[in-house]
Amino acid sequence: MMEETKDELRKDMESGEKEETVYDETGREKLVEDGEISPDEAGFMEGAEDDGEQGKCANCGAALLDDSLVETKIEGKTFWFCSAHCLEKYKEKKQVP
Ligand SMILES: [Zn+2]
Repeated sequence: MMEETKDELRKDMESGEKEETVYDETGREKLVEDGEISPDEAGFMEGAEDDGEQGKCANCGAALLDDSLVETKIEGKTFWFCSAHCLEKYKEKKQVP
């Protein structure tokens, strides 16, 4: 596999083609190596990958609808769910009291 130069990678990211690279583990490591992002930022993105993101249910990954979403704070972090059912399932999974 050919190694992309930093400029090419940046160009791809700017054009939107490589935007998701940062959420991919290999891409993240490369960005840290290149000094594009700090290890802290990479860790933050890793967390975002695990916990889902605003707009998606943290339990099942379903797209959230404004009228039915459930918002909760767990250990200082905000999570969104598509339903109270998913909130309960997520808490079970993460063993949140
Ligand atoms: Zn859900």
